[in-house]
Amino acid sequence: MNKLYDENNVFSKILRSEIPCNKILENECALSFSDINPQAPIHILIIPKNPYINFYDFSKNASIKEVELFWKLVNDVIEQVNLTTNGFRIISNCGHDGNQDVPHFHLHLLGGKNLGRMIN
Ligand code: 5GP
Repeated sequence: MNKLYDENNVFSKILRSEIPCNKILENECALSFSDINPQAPIHILIIPKNPYINFYDFSKNASIKEVELFWKLVNDVIEQVNLTTNGFRIISNCGHDGNQDVPHFHLHLLGGKNLGRMIN
C-alpha cells in the first residue's frame, strides 16, 4: 500500500461500492465508468483497481500484468463505445500543475464530437 494514497477519495469509494457509478467495462485490474460531469458527448474514466495516486505512480510501480490489463481495458472501452472511426482524446491530469482533482490514477477518454485544439 502506498502510504500517501488517500483511501477516502471518490474513486476508492467507487471501487469499494460505497458510491455508485455507471460502469462501462471492467477486468481483473481495471474499471471504467462514465464521468459524473461529462465534458464531451462521451466522457469515460478508466482507473486501475489497485491504489495508485497518479499516472507517474502507476507507471513506476504497477506490475506488468496491471499495466497490460489496464491498457487492454482502455482499448476494449474504445471499441465498446465505437470511437475507433472518428477518434478520441485521452487525458491524464497529474498532480498540482496537471490540476488533478481526484488522487487515484485515472484516464479521461473523451469523444463523440470534434474536441478542438488540445490546450486553449
Ligand atoms: P481530475 O480533475 O482528477 O483529472 O478529474 C476527476 C474527474 O472525476 C472529473 O472529471 C469529475 O467530473 C469526476 N468525478 C468526480 N466525482 C465523481 C463521482 O463521484 N463519480 C464519477 N463518475 N465521476 C466523478
